[in-house]
Amino acid sequence: MPALTMSSSDLKGIGMTSQRTRDRLVARLREKGIQNERVLAQIAAVPRHLFVDEALSHRAYEDTALPIGHGQTISQPFVVALMTQVLLEVGPHKVLEVGTGCGYQTAVLAQLCRQIFTIERVEALVPRAKERLQRLGIRNVVAKFGDGYKGWDAHGPFDGIIVTAAPSEVPPELLAQLAEGGRMVLPVGGDTVQELRVIDKRDGALTERVLDKVRFVPLLSGVTAD
Ligand code: SAH
Repeated sequence: MPALTMSSSDLKGIGMTSQRTRDRLVARLREKGIQNERVLAQIAAVPRHLFVDEALSHRAYEDTALPIGHGQTISQPFVVALMTQVLLEVGPHKVLEVGTGCGYQTAVLAQLCRQIFTIERVEALVPRAKERLQRLGIRNVVAKFGDGYKGWDAHGPFDGIIVTAAPSEVPPELLAQLAEGGRMVLPVGGDTVQELRVIDKRDGALTERVLDKVRFVPLLSGVTAD
């Protein structure tokens, strides 16, 4: 996977302090149990401040979700790292992400898997996420505006599926698009708290376990311009 590229204007402001803040974030994730060094290296490398509004960029390396407009959020770094770490255990090449949002999780995954397909239902977020990925020199991502509840049949089956918004039940179309030997990581539940589930497909059979309690925005059906 190519290294991230950044222009000098992107690099401006990532001085020593910012590098220290990022290193602190990585140390915090380590303490919380993230052990995959490749994942930690990407959390250190992907400039999360470029994925939030400038007014919030001073908080970009806190281990917290932040608002990105349109009632949506950028996921908490710990949750991004945890989901990525668990997904990587099956060595996926082709991954589907449902809920692109600002594209942060997409950027982390893109450095670790061969190809990422990502879907976002809020139209306005899609070109902005694409721009950010392009600016970082990430070229192995195909992003589209659409309803990810149904997955992306034309490109399936996927070795890995990551859902970054919470449905109340596991979407059957996504299970159908999971490849043999593949793994899906997704939050399932109501508005306030959800279970982070890990679903594996082996010999056509599905096994499921709960990893943690999490809080994501809901997975909504249909699409919207704003
Ligand atoms: N992956 C993002 C998290 C974005 S928040 C990150 O790295 O920060 C979840 C996103 O899922 C929101 O942008 C929301 O609009 C989107 N979403 C919700 N329901 C969806 C659906 N049915 N299809 C695609 N995207 C959906």
